[in-house]
Amino acid sequence: MPHRTSLEAALKKLHTQERLTDEAQRIASIGTYIHDSVSDEGIWSRQLKRIFGLPDDDAPVATECFMGMIHPEDRSWFREAWIRAWRSAERSETEHRIVRTDGAVRHVHAWGQLLQQGDGEPAIMVGTVQDVTDRLVREKLIVDQAEQLRAMEAELLYLSRQSAMGTMASTLAHELNQPLTAITFYAAALKRGEQDQRRRDMLGTLEENALRAGEIIRRLRLSVETGVAKKERFRCDELVNEAITFSTIGCEGVAFELDLAGEEIYGADRVQIQQVLVNLIRNACQAVKTRSDGKVRIATSKVPAADFIRICISDNGAGIPEALLPRVFDSGVSTKESGMGLGLSISRTIVEAHGGRIWAENGAEGARFLFDLPLRTAH
Ligand code: ADP
Repeated sequence: MPHRTSLEAALKKLHTQERLTDEAQRIASIGTYIHDSVSDEGIWSRQLKRIFGLPDDDAPVATECFMGMIHPEDRSWFREAWIRAWRSAERSETEHRIVRTDGAVRHVHAWGQLLQQGDGEPAIMVGTVQDVTDRLVREKLIVDQAEQLRAMEAELLYLSRQSAMGTMASTLAHELNQPLTAITFYAAALKRGEQDQRRRDMLGTLEENALRAGEIIRRLRLSVETGVAKKERFRCDELVNEAITFSTIGCEGVAFELDLAGEEIYGADRVQIQQVLVNLIRNACQAVKTRSDGKVRIATSKVPAADFIRICISDNGAGIPEALLPRVFDSGVSTKESGMGLGLSISRTIVEAHGGRIWAENGAEGARFLFDLPLRTAH
């Protein structure tokens, strides 16, 4: 009986190897197949049958049977890839969905390689199929979490900016109040004792500016802390003229062209709107100050058919660089050597808080900044 014993041993070894291969395939969730073009069916490993939810027996699987289990949305391109793989010597690779016999949808990654057997023998396709559903679910989870984190980060950044603004405004208001009060007091005292008219005027301007700086800071603090601006009634043309005197210090050669309507604005914060005007006029003056024919034009007009006033400040400077236009109102955007890039961003906040809108464009020459304000602001 020695022959029988060695056969039994060989069979046992084969079974052990088969079991080990099956176990390895199960752990990696990878199944293998060999497809034959003549019978048009395949021999599938047990693990591959488990991936598809088929009984894990030795029965061959007809090509049409497994095509029917490809997800309907992937079936047509998969069938073309399958046909191409039979014509190519290259290894083919696909990632597609299958619908298991129990109805569950799984994602699989498949590789196939055509093997030419001996002369005259039909070719066979050998390959592996890996169930990658869990990996994809994990990947999606990570992507979702990363997106959530990014959204939270943006929110936090926004909130920290808001509170940083609040803290900054309160600190500034507190720290600057004392020196500004002192400047105002001494300027007023010196003005009273000054005989020279020119020097008295200069001291008067100093006093006015110090008072205005204090007022700007007080209102900024008020609106940051309470979100409420003052409701006042004022003439738009008067406000523009005042803003010009505050904005032109250091830009004396600039010519102004004014076309102002005498509209009254109700319910807006006068100091804040003046601040917007000062920011825009100062930018315009700075844009033209190196030109000998530097010109700034300010026009106000009622927006037809709406209860808004439109204020337009244009200059004949170099204009806004095209690449900067879409984000020129963002905070921190500046092309100036010592610029902070805050003026336009603050102006937009003020105009929008009043229910208006502000925008910028390049004209035939230079830049043009416009803003619309409701004639009656409802806070
Ligand atoms: P800053 O004046 O500190 O730079 P702003 O927010 O007031 O900050 O302006 C942002 C940028 O917008 C400026 O640095 C400049 O590049 C551009 N800008 C503003 N006004 C004009 C203008 N009238 N002409 C050309 N560029 C302008």
